[in-house]
Amino acid sequence: MYRAFFAGRPEGELEGCSPPAPTRVLESESPEGVVRKFLLPVPPPERLSGRELPEALETESVVIPMRGRHATTHTLCVSSQVGCAMGCGFCETAQMGLIRSLSPAEIVAQWWAATHSLGATIKNIVFMGMGEPLDNPGGVIGAIAALTDRRGAAVAMKNITVSTVGRIDGLLKLRERVVTDGWKRLNLAVSINAPNDEIRDSIMPINRAMPLGELVRVLEEWPLRPSGAICAEYVLIPGVNDKPEHADELAELLKNIRCCVNVIPYNPRRNSPWPAPEEASVDSFLARLEARGQFCKRRRTKGRDTMAACGQLGNEQIRGRKLVQVGLG
Ligand code: SF4
Repeated sequence: MYRAFFAGRPEGELEGCSPPAPTRVLESESPEGVVRKFLLPVPPPERLSGRELPEALETESVVIPMRGRHATTHTLCVSSQVGCAMGCGFCETAQMGLIRSLSPAEIVAQWWAATHSLGATIKNIVFMGMGEPLDNPGGVIGAIAALTDRRGAAVAMKNITVSTVGRIDGLLKLRERVVTDGWKRLNLAVSINAPNDEIRDSIMPINRAMPLGELVRVLEEWPLRPSGAICAEYVLIPGVNDKPEHADELAELLKNIRCCVNVIPYNPRRNSPWPAPEEASVDSFLARLEARGQFCKRRRTKGRDTMAACGQLGNEQIRGRKLVQVGLG
């Protein structure tokens, strides 16, 4: 796989390119099988002004079992950055700030480790680990090109999902690729998380630069394949975005986008100001969306006790949140 990725490079450049093995693997039980979070070493950036960093950094990835009717398959959640600059209030990774973006090879190494070190058969790959994928479009697009290469991992494009906070500049770059042959089946997930700008501003700083109205317009025109749909992710946070009227407003906001709302019960980050939602409130939010004609489903929570669940990745030793100014230019 690595050889396929480095194809065309001088042979000498391949030396020292063998993928790293996990430094730690944390396991937790879920109703569908064992969830495994693993960490891979990556070198720190040469410089990061004003920050004290450990000598070695780690990427975090999660192998998630998905029980089907006939067999259990695995989804691999990969990181595209170490840390993240987006500062979402509900997310553990945001507490680290952005340390650096990962190269295509460092992203592909996560698939390699899951497959060859952990022995997992990976069917799906989701860019939902640490980092905002469209803050690192070169790394992510390069990794997808390598992962779908038939000479290597040969992961089907339809089994890969890029999940973004809604960076419009990155979405426009990705769209240039998605309209080309071989890329049309790439899945897109967008973290909506709020029914209006006021709530979204309070939990997702990106919204102040790229508000919901602009994001919705881009999604309405997203080049979907005939049977395709965008995944609109909605982290349900008690007391923030979980009222019945929020479900109504959300359905209205998304009415012209072919999408499925994926309701994700909030997984508390360290020192979280909010608890996880009650089951009853998740159920009633879903029922309200359905009553408004919005196609929706809920994400089953897996790996919460090893901080491997959605929004819980991140190194608690590294704290230095520094937001990067995001503009449309
Ligand atoms: S939710 Fe995603 S984009 Fe937001 S801070 Fe966390 S990793 Fe970054």
